[in-house]
Amino acid sequence: MTGPRPRAGAGRGKASGPPKAAKRRRAPMAAAAVPAASPAGPERAETAFGRFVVDFLEVRGGTCQKLAGGDWQATFDPGLARRLRRQSARLVFDPDCAILPRGGIFVAPGSRAGLIVLELARGAGHVTRERLEAAAGVDAGALAKAGFVVHDARLRSWEVGEPRHVVQILFHVTLTLKGGGAEQDLRTVLAEPRGPAFEFVEPEERRGWRLRDGFPEGPVWWGDRDLAQMVPAREAIPVWGSLIGWLSRVQEPRLERWRRRCEETRERDLARINGYFETRLQEEENRRRRRSEMHEEEDHATEAEIKLEWERRVRSVRARWDARAELRLWGVEEIARPRAPVTWTYETRAGLRTLSGEVDLADGVVARLPCPVCGRLVGEYWWEGGFVCRRCRGRGVQATEPAESPPRAPAGRIPARKRPG
Ligand SMILES: [Zn+2]
Repeated sequence: MTGPRPRAGAGRGKASGPPKAAKRRRAPMAAAAVPAASPAGPERAETAFGRFVVDFLEVRGGTCQKLAGGDWQATFDPGLARRLRRQSARLVFDPDCAILPRGGIFVAPGSRAGLIVLELARGAGHVTRERLEAAAGVDAGALAKAGFVVHDARLRSWEVGEPRHVVQILFHVTLTLKGGGAEQDLRTVLAEPRGPAFEFVEPEERRGWRLRDGFPEGPVWWGDRDLAQMVPAREAIPVWGSLIGWLSRVQEPRLERWRRRCEETRERDLARINGYFETRLQEEENRRRRRSEMHEEEDHATEAEIKLEWERRVRSVRARWDARAELRLWGVEEIARPRAPVTWTYETRAGLRTLSGEVDLADGVVARLPCPVCGRLVGEYWWEGGFVCRRCRGRGVQATEPAESPPRAPAGRIPARKRPG
């Protein structure tokens, strides 16, 4: 998808500026079997499947180190180590590699190890809890004083609350577009309880976070609730529902293109098949005219056979190009972030308005807030009778203040199938 895509960068307070040029982790499935370079070539092109395996191993707690020639040296988390019956191995993704190096295992798609990784990713998935710690020298007061950027309004006062840990959730999902040759994406979506709001996180960015294992001592907040055990199901389920709605909306242009492509290919295939069978029937009819009546019964049988085969081929083409999207959740990370709540008071043309937000003590920035109109996480608002983001300016929307805006319900077209876990 090259359409509008919310930018990654949670809590970095940088919603404006040029779009990030981060490379998308997307490749047609066929690309997983890119032919290998000649053995003389020092570097083999990374494949989508290779990247997936490396990401997956790392996110499960293993380590991966790239070796010359395209192989990786990896250590495995205990669960995977049990399945593979070893703690570490040299991963060989090259499907054309004839001789396995010492200590190596094939992880090409369809190999035993590749299948185990896929099975783990698609089956139980994984859930983990981590935390970020406050960076040294971050001055919450100074950040709060700088304020959340609101154009056409003036910051009058601010109040900084006690720092606390708040949770953001990373959902790791696999989006598969089916119909003919499948196309598959691994995406990571960050859920911010405010809103709730969602955005994509690129793997490079995720790797840049200095995450520590486990939640910190003391309370961790999910909205206004101390998350001692887990996000309660009655809150977690709507978040997942909203995420599917959001993902469907942002992926809509891509799904639409996929659907159109499937339909066009289907129509082309159908036209070809119809043309072929029409000609065959016509030939059959011409032959019948030339032959005696004695053969009539036999001729009808032949025609019926052709028609049956025609129907069968049409059904098969329709099934083959039936466009479907499948979304699978394979991992959840709950990340506790140190943040100080801030209440800002702005002087607007309509009088004083308050805005509640946070200062992120790990990143040392004012945390972004969801646009009350479109729900995107943004680093600045404009005052237009309500707070709006850059994109929502001039739409004549009388927005409400974010603190009062209700969580947005899932909307938009939902992929044909979805299954959490
Ligand atoms: Zn907006």
